[in-house]
Amino acid sequence: MSSRWPDALRDALGLRLALWYAAIFVASALALVVLTYVLLSASLRRYDRDTIETTLVQYARAYMIGGAPGLARELREGNLAATPGPLFVRLLGPGEELTFFSMPQQWRRFDLSQLDTPRLSGEQTWATLDTGDGGDELEVASVRLADGTLLQVGRSTDRRKELLARFRLVLLVDLAVVLVIALAGGVAVTWSGLQPVRALRDTVRGIVQTGRTDARVPPASGGDTLGELGNLVNAMLDRIDRVVAGMRGALDNVAHDLRTPLTRLRGIAEEALTSGDPVRQRAALAECVEEADRVNAMLHTLMDISEAETGTMALTREPVPLSALVQQTVDLYEDAAEDRAIVIETEVDEGLVVPVDRTRMRQVLANLLDNAVKYTPEGGRVRIRARAHDGRAVLTVEDTGPGIPPDELPRVWERLYRGDRSRSTRGLGLGLSLVKAIVEAHGGSVDVSSVPGTGSRFEIRLPLSTIA
Ligand code: ADP
Repeated sequence: MSSRWPDALRDALGLRLALWYAAIFVASALALVVLTYVLLSASLRRYDRDTIETTLVQYARAYMIGGAPGLARELREGNLAATPGPLFVRLLGPGEELTFFSMPQQWRRFDLSQLDTPRLSGEQTWATLDTGDGGDELEVASVRLADGTLLQVGRSTDRRKELLARFRLVLLVDLAVVLVIALAGGVAVTWSGLQPVRALRDTVRGIVQTGRTDARVPPASGGDTLGELGNLVNAMLDRIDRVVAGMRGALDNVAHDLRTPLTRLRGIAEEALTSGDPVRQRAALAECVEEADRVNAMLHTLMDISEAETGTMALTREPVPLSALVQQTVDLYEDAAEDRAIVIETEVDEGLVVPVDRTRMRQVLANLLDNAVKYTPEGGRVRIRARAHDGRAVLTVEDTGPGIPPDELPRVWERLYRGDRSRSTRGLGLGLSLVKAIVEAHGGSVDVSSVPGTGSRFEIRLPLSTIA
């Protein structure tokens, strides 16, 4: 026996299903067998009675023609044998005197005095005699003839009972075969049917025992519910993996990135302490507050980025008109731009509505506009445009700043990346990472292009709202 079978039988769910399957199978087979038996038994009884009745009618006719001797002669010659096998035949005259009697020896045990006799001429009755031992019975049809004679024809049920007994034996053997097939079939069907569930269990057990989430349920061949369940579990594990990796990455980043500002903070405090100069100490304290604020802002932004990247950021999406969003952001930066004689132009198609989290999307626009104003020299120009293209909303922020060197372009979206020439300007190097993470969390995409010395162009694409 291969190792699969004991396994199949050890599986409590599999065994239970197999037993249910076998029970239902056997119950329906049993119902079929019982019904067949009852119908066959009734049909044989009907047949026996029909033949006895036919014989009775034939004998009555023979008696009417030739009297008792005529009937005896006919019987002897076997001309009237409508019924196969031996028969009980009795003729009683009008005064109950016996005029003819024929009965096989083995039936003599039946008590004929119990036979119900019809009184009226032409009347026919049926009677069944038994000996009380549960064996065969004698079925007798009686008819009162025109001259008052009583004719009785009967037959034992022994042949019928024997036939039914054999049939019962055959049915029992059939049932035993059905039981074996049902059990074996039940085990085999449930074994193969539960295969995907076992694969799922083994995978989950492996994950629980080892703590590793890189195990996957083997792909199912059919597109059934269990196969779909396996695929869903795999998709869930992928997602968990991504979240865990994202969290780990975020933690590593935070630990790594906080080291520098914290060291700086410590340095400032230490230097102030050792200097002993109250004026320098006050200045150092102010610097410490500023640095702590920076660390705090950095921490918040890093957490936001990792939440958006791992899909755990709570987004309250609603249809938001882009023009209003752009206008509110421009209003925020107008003063800063004016101070440096920078012109902000907007060109936003009316009716552009995007399904986004309003606050988060405002953060995206603010970061792009902040960079544009920050990096564009005095007297420059910033242009914000939005239009629909290919079923998406396309928003661009262009400036006339210094542009980004080609080797730095792909890196601007990285966490904490700051361009070489930007180190002197304020910033954490997290703005564009946050922009990318939030836009992608909304199902959008980002892009950047730049001609150094001429300007930069940032582009975000977002799904359009179906509800205007
Ligand atoms: P930060 O602006 O705080 O340095 P960001 O993530 O917003 O960080 O930007 C990353 C880098 O991309 C910047 O340091 C800068 O070098 C470059 N950059 C971003 N926006 C512009 C822009 N409008 N013009 C030129 N360089 C830009």
